[in-house]
Formats: sequence, C-alpha cells, structure tokens
Amino acid sequence: MVKRSPHFSTLSQADLFVEIPRRVESFRKKNPHVHLVNLSIGDTSQPLIPPIHEALVKEAHQLGTREGYKGYGPEQGTQELREAIAQIVYRHQFSSEEIFISDGAKCDIGRLQLLFASCSSVAVQDPVYPAYVDTSLLSGKKIHLLPCLKENGFLPDVEKIPSVDLLFLSSPNNPTDAVFTRDELTYLVRWAHKEGTIIIFDAAYASYITDPTLPHSIYEIEGAKEVAIEVGSFSKSAGFTGVRLGWSVVPKELCYEEGTPLLRDWDRLVSAFYNGSSRISQKGGIAALTKEGLEGLSKQIGYYQENAQILKRALSEKGYAVYGGHHTPFLWVDFNKRNSWDLFSQFLEQAHLILIPGRGFGPSGEGFMRVSGFGHREEIFKGIERLSCISLQSL
Ligand code: PLP
Repeated sequence: MVKRSPHFSTLSQADLFVEIPRRVESFRKKNPHVHLVNLSIGDTSQPLIPPIHEALVKEAHQLGTREGYKGYGPEQGTQELREAIAQIVYRHQFSSEEIFISDGAKCDIGRLQLLFASCSSVAVQDPVYPAYVDTSLLSGKKIHLLPCLKENGFLPDVEKIPSVDLLFLSSPNNPTDAVFTRDELTYLVRWAHKEGTIIIFDAAYASYITDPTLPHSIYEIEGAKEVAIEVGSFSKSAGFTGVRLGWSVVPKELCYEEGTPLLRDWDRLVSAFYNGSSRISQKGGIAALTKEGLEGLSKQIGYYQENAQILKRALSEKGYAVYGGHHTPFLWVDFNKRNSWDLFSQFLEQAHLILIPGRGFGPSGEGFMRVSGFGHREEIFKGIERLSCISLQSL
C-alpha cells in the first residue's frame, strides 16, 4: 500500500481561500436571492492595461504563425525578461543569471523549500500570507511563529527572533500592510549574517509602497546578497493573477553553510521541475516594465489605493479601529479579540458582506478582519452601504 505523506497531518486547517468559498457557497444555497458584496478579495479586478494586453495578443498571434511559432523556452525564463527585471526592478544590481522567471511568487515559495533540508527550522510572521507556513509544513520543516501585534506596528519583535535556518519576511505584509523600515531590515540582515540564517523576502506588494524612505527590496540593504533570496510577482502590480508571472532572485554570493552556492542548486532544481513560464505571459511582463507600462500600472495601483482609502474613511467614521491601507490595498480591522470566524458569519448573514477572518492568517490574526480594496469602485461603495446594515455595537 502507498503511504500518505505524514506532513499533511501537520497542516492545521483547510486552506483559507478554499474554506471561505465553501462557507459562502453554503450560504448562497440557503439564500439564492441574496446579492453578496465581496470585500474579501485579494485578487485584482481591473482589466490589463492596453500596452500589456497588446503585447499578449501580439505574442499569441505570432505563435499562431509558421514563422513566429516557438515551443519550449529556457526553464529559467527568456533572456529578454530576465534582463529587463535585472535592469529595471533591480537597477543593474544583478546579472540576468541571478533572476529566475516563474509562474508566480506562490509557486516559487513552494519550490524554494526543496533547496533546504527538511530538518531546517523556519520562522514566519504571524499573521501572514499562509503559503510560507503551508509549504514549510508540507516539506517537513519546524515552524516558529513570530507574533506581529498592534503594539509593535504589526511587525515582529526583531530582537526576539529565535535562531532559525530560514526566515520568511513579507513586506508589505498581507494581511496587516506593515512594512519593514530600512533600519529594521538592516538589523535583520546583520542578524542573518551572525546566525547563518537565509531570509526569503516576499516583495509581492513592493510596487504599492509610496513612501520613498521605505525599502522596496531587501537588496537595498547592504550585505543582503549574502543572506537573502527575494521573490517578486507581476500579480498585484500588473494584474497578472490569472496571466501568472513572477520571479525569484538568487544572488551568486548566497551559499549554504558548506559553501555551495544556492544559485547552482536553484538552477538545477528549476530545470528539473519547471518547463519555463508561458512565452505569452513573459512578453506581457516585458511590456509591464516599459515606460508606458510602468506609467499605466502606477495609475492602476493608485485606483486600488484610493479604494482602500475610501473604505478606510468610511470604516473609521463608523467607529471601527482600522489599520493599513497604505502599502497594500488591505485594511486590517481590529475587533478587540472577538472570534473572527464568528464575525465572518455575522457579516455574511446580517450584512451580506464577505470579509476575511484574521485567524485564517495565523493565531495572532484572531480578533481582526481583513477588508480589501481590490474590488471595483462600485463594489466598494456597495460594501460601505452594507456596513450600515450592521451596527458595530451588535458585533
Ligand atoms: N505573496 C503574497 C504576500 C501574496 O499576498 C500573494 C497573493 O495574494 C502571493 C505572494 C502570490 O503571488 P503570485 O500570484 O505571484 O503567486
């Protein structure tokens, strides 16, 4: 008989993004005529901007011609896109060989786990995007949660991080919106050097940072190349959640304790596991990094940021204690230790509103709800109307 991987039993609960649709579907079955307003989505809602759309269509068209048809591309991504990311995102800090194109940050987070021994220990922010915890547990690693509480601006107490092999950092953080400052990251990079820890820095929301004093990338910090991998994504910056495109940076300076460069193993692993990102999406990524693309995307990001601000004002006026909405379109609303799955049910049943329970992002998310500005503007206004159906005191 085939044995099931023992690691499945270490996963604590159903995936948040599966559990919510399941509960919503069950409500819909019982209430088929109710229109639900969704302020839970972490997905983008606006159409692709014209230069990106045109690049995708052009490449798709080329592939439909005898002369323009191409099959497999390099597993690590096309040279053109690797160079564009090295030059435009990282301002020539890296050679194209250190940039690996992927089908998204989440997929790379899972694959990166294979670089490290399953006895490795991992520290992650709590609350946080669940992929770091799930993929660490599924690969047999031991997890330490770093509580990120209101008192500490939703960042971990950096001086209390235990000695671990791997440290995942999400900055800006989904769901709390917290960003590490330059000083905090400098401390962590020095700490990683001292401890022999590798940092995996998830910069999926970096393009939402508007404060120029805040780091967009861990490589803005001196010494980071020797201790950090960074994953990036076109999902939230360019609306590629369905197109699928991301990257990871594995600097040539980064080595395991016995001296082997990670770059060599990552290159090998990518070739073993992956047949390259779609040629069409890679052309879209190149278009996103042109001057016209970057200008169009900055407007689109501004739209989501404005949604978050509209929501934040409305919630604050109604007396809610709201955090976030600056470096991501996510608001993190404090319900003073109330059970967040109960709150989820109350918002769903009484206001016909879908929000995300903070507990789904980790134990320290209990008592909070995530409200998202990623929807259409009309949906944001409808959501605000629905909030009037429920009094804060009744929660
Ligand atoms: N990282 C964070 C922090 C996220 O919130 C998300 C998606 O919500 C991802 C990564 C997933 O990115 P991708 O779509 O590139 O897989």
